[in-house]
Amino acid sequence: MSASSGEPRTHSPQARAAERAEMIRQIELEARATGGLTGRPELSPRVLAALARVPRHEFVPEELKSRAYDDGPLPIGHGQTISQPFVVALMTDLAAVSETSRVLEIGTGCGYQTALLAELAHHVFTIEIVPELAAQAHQRLLRLGYTRVKTRVGDGHLGWPEEAPFDAILVTAAASVVPPALLAQLKPRGRLVIPVGRPFSSQDLVLIERDTSGALHEQVVLPVAFVPLVHGQGPA
Ligand code: SAH
Repeated sequence: MSASSGEPRTHSPQARAAERAEMIRQIELEARATGGLTGRPELSPRVLAALARVPRHEFVPEELKSRAYDDGPLPIGHGQTISQPFVVALMTDLAAVSETSRVLEIGTGCGYQTALLAELAHHVFTIEIVPELAAQAHQRLLRLGYTRVKTRVGDGHLGWPEEAPFDAILVTAAASVVPPALLAQLKPRGRLVIPVGRPFSSQDLVLIERDTSGALHEQVVLPVAFVPLVHGQGPA
């Protein structure tokens, strides 16, 4: 394989691991730089270890593999993107999932965030509205060994009532308002991480926690830019 422009790169597992280590260094720097806003200057060691295990280059189109570990979003087809590594890391950290957590992701995309969640929690459910992306992500996750993940095609605004309630819900596309069904499917002590705002304009990453009395607490975490959470049909 020919190297892309710039420094020559090999594609050995060791070279990929080195790229991941550099990506994680960047993530840690950005976490520190934004810590005043996010309240998370240090990400959990469990999340950092999981980032080191997921082969991000397997989730991007062939021609973008050499840029898979850059700290930015990349196109994945159908007008969609794989999110920036720092944002994926921060959202995962905010979700605070443990091994026994039931986790719902809205917006499977290429499945990278899904894989990271599957490294951390036993029960991971993910919904994607674009059938082709859902099918590709499903195959990719199986091929990479993430066989416990449950995927579904549908409109994530509705959540996944049959599998609810969840300890954590991550929405990886921007909603104009927080979908009520997602709040309804959140357990006590559950955490919903969601970008809220207008499409392609200023959005806030928001963390909503349900306390043990059922009350919701909201924290605005960071300005972000996500593709829109679109409306569509229910589960296919
Ligand atoms: N988590 C992904 C990010 C993908 S971008 C990753 O790690 O790469 C957001 C994704 O949300 C897109 O694939 C888009 O098709 C999907 N999406 C948009 N609106 C949706 C909806 N209502 N329900 C489910 N998925 C949706």
